[in-house]
Amino acid sequence: MKTTGIVYTKQHLHHKTGSHHPESGSRLRAIMNALRKQKLFSKREYCLISPEIAPTEDLELVHSREHIKLVKQVCENGGGLLDLGDTVASDGTFMAAKYAAGSAKRAVDEVLKGRLRNAFALTRPPGHHAGPTYAMGFCVFNNVSVAASYLATKGLRRILILDIDAHHGNGTQEIFYDTGNVLYISLHEDPHEFPGVGFEDEVGRDDGLGYTINIPFPLRTGDDAYLKAMHEIVIPVTREFAPQFILLSVGYDGYFRDPVGRLNLSFQIYPLIFRKMLDLASATCEDKLVAVLEGGYCVPRLGKLVLSTILTMAGSSLQRTVDSRPVDLAAEKRAEKIVERVKKVQSKFWKVLKA
Ligand SMILES: [Zn+2]
Repeated sequence: MKTTGIVYTKQHLHHKTGSHHPESGSRLRAIMNALRKQKLFSKREYCLISPEIAPTEDLELVHSREHIKLVKQVCENGGGLLDLGDTVASDGTFMAAKYAAGSAKRAVDEVLKGRLRNAFALTRPPGHHAGPTYAMGFCVFNNVSVAASYLATKGLRRILILDIDAHHGNGTQEIFYDTGNVLYISLHEDPHEFPGVGFEDEVGRDDGLGYTINIPFPLRTGDDAYLKAMHEIVIPVTREFAPQFILLSVGYDGYFRDPVGRLNLSFQIYPLIFRKMLDLASATCEDKLVAVLEGGYCVPRLGKLVLSTILTMAGSSLQRTVDSRPVDLAAEKRAEKIVERVKKVQSKFWKVLKA
């Protein structure tokens, strides 16, 4: 029987961000507590795996030598800021970040070799804002991009990254903007304020034209628009693309109680999206799917949110959680129009989107 792998190491906790930073070790502690409480690791459907450290050559698949060197230096000097904002490093960050990239790589490697059915890399620092030459938005190395690039070195030519963090993954988009090997689809909140890119007319360049799909939703968008985007864009385009591997760049900060994200998504939307992506993986690539943790800062609920998606990966589910989330009808209406607009823009590249 094939199992769902959970890739985790305590090394991720050596990345210290200070007592008031939303991206803290308590996130991973809450997640691991929720998984242990459910006794996941004594069940035969799951296994806990330790990652290896990502060697420099893996980081160099997506990052410049200068960026890697800078992170190393800042950490050796005891830590400090890695950007002009709030991307903090401590003395343990370089090691933790190398483990984070190594976790994503280990997860895809195990699934690619058929030793696991699917896997979730529970990592921090997160990755999707980190670009080729910079750290940004709490992200140091781009973990999901290291995993995708590693798959490309193994000969894969159609890799899908679906990014459902509340924020646009500007780093991932930039890394794969001019390649057709990686299709990057992102559903996210209005990116005007942050990260400043991720609009629907950003569609890729050169060989990558049509292989970037951005669905930028108004603030306070909820489940209905997300489901419309899944059914009318993500699912048909994925079927047409026929990926050889599906990567999920998963942030839970779109959850309506999250203190950082500004969307109105329910608890239930996360296992629902996972279910749809697992079905797509089963239809297109023999179940090959790996999730990599990005954001999600509502610590009291994060453990259960992640648990609900990991249970889904093993074909199980959590007892239904009912949340009375707020609904902003005006935002929902505008969000529906965005889905139509993205379909129009992308219909140049995808047959299934032609009216
Ligand atoms: Zn985020």
